[in-house]
Amino acid sequence: MSKDIWVIAERRNDEIHSSTYELLGKAREIAKKAGDFMVWVIVLSERTMTETEKGLLYRYGADGIIAAVHEVFQRFNFLAYLETLEKLAKEAEPEIILAPATTTGRTIMPALAGVLGTGLTADCTGLDIEVETGNLLQTRPAIGGNIMAMIKTPAHRPQMATVRPKTFSVLEEKYDGPREYREIHPIFFSKIDRMELVEFKGTPSEMKSIQDSEIVISGGRGLRKPENLELLKRIAKLVNGSVGASRPIVDSKWIGHECQVGLSGHTVKPRVYLAAGISGAVQHIAGMQTSDVIVAINKDRNAPIFDFSDIGLVGDASEILETILKRLEALKG
Ligand code: FAD
Repeated sequence: MSKDIWVIAERRNDEIHSSTYELLGKAREIAKKAGDFMVWVIVLSERTMTETEKGLLYRYGADGIIAAVHEVFQRFNFLAYLETLEKLAKEAEPEIILAPATTTGRTIMPALAGVLGTGLTADCTGLDIEVETGNLLQTRPAIGGNIMAMIKTPAHRPQMATVRPKTFSVLEEKYDGPREYREIHPIFFSKIDRMELVEFKGTPSEMKSIQDSEIVISGGRGLRKPENLELLKRIAKLVNGSVGASRPIVDSKWIGHECQVGLSGHTVKPRVYLAAGISGAVQHIAGMQTSDVIVAINKDRNAPIFDFSDIGLVGDASEILETILKRLEALKG
């Protein structure tokens, strides 16, 4: 009998969020390595899935889909999510359950682990499998991000982990698996209306979120004064990118936490990441190292950030940023 890996789908604005496809890519890789695993996506939705939605999940690595359909899933309802997932997991006994480390994933997964009597490794930055034992190898920063810990849970099943969006890549080649589809219509026995989501407030921002941007222009303490952030904002606007920051900049309230890149901020994976006046501490690197191209500006040629950069510019950050801005403005006419 095959073993199952589950990916709990993240739905936002009536769409499957990209973090689901990223996890599917990793789950597929694990299934391929282990040999006898099937990858299932669990979708909680207020409506039956469309053929296009199903097709995308199959194409990006799912062998099957379990859709739990009930009007309560129109909005996030913790109790309804928990009861449904608990029931499904106790029936199907998956070996591995993965979810994006989003607000929903971070809320539901610890509770699900609790009711299933197992553990959870939150915010993993790497996942692999030990083929002989089927143990999931869960990597995540520990001790303030100074070491990477590899965690196994050999004595408990399911093995559960959350992974931050933008940590893994979606599958490039098309997957063509068995395409099983099961739809259930849950009946709730507990009082699921004890808790109600009243409103979801996104962070107000003039720009795209750093996680959704193809270009992130980040600044650190080397910017020296908040006015220099303006340079970053103007460059970001010209290239249709977003502004990121290191933690001290956020702690100093120059910019909001939604812009913080790193261990206690967000993970980004843009095509281009520019780090201006950022030293390259491990906690910052943890949030941007998988960017396609990393450009660093630092006045110290020995700054650790240069070890992670594809292009390094040694010099004063504000002077170099001003030059870049002028060139871009000239290019745009
Ligand atoms: P600094 O380390 O002070 O570096 C400033 C850099 O600017 C230096 O390399 C310097 O050479 C350069 N510089 C100075 N003047 C100029 C100039 N005129 N032109 C060009 N370069 C110049 N940090 C994060 O960023 N994100 C996180 O999510 C995060 N989480 C953390 C979680 C924990 C548990 C802990 C303990 C720490 C965390 N940190 C995080 C903090 C992290 O350890 C570093 O302190 C932080 O990243 C340093 O920010 P920085 O590079 O802007 O500043």
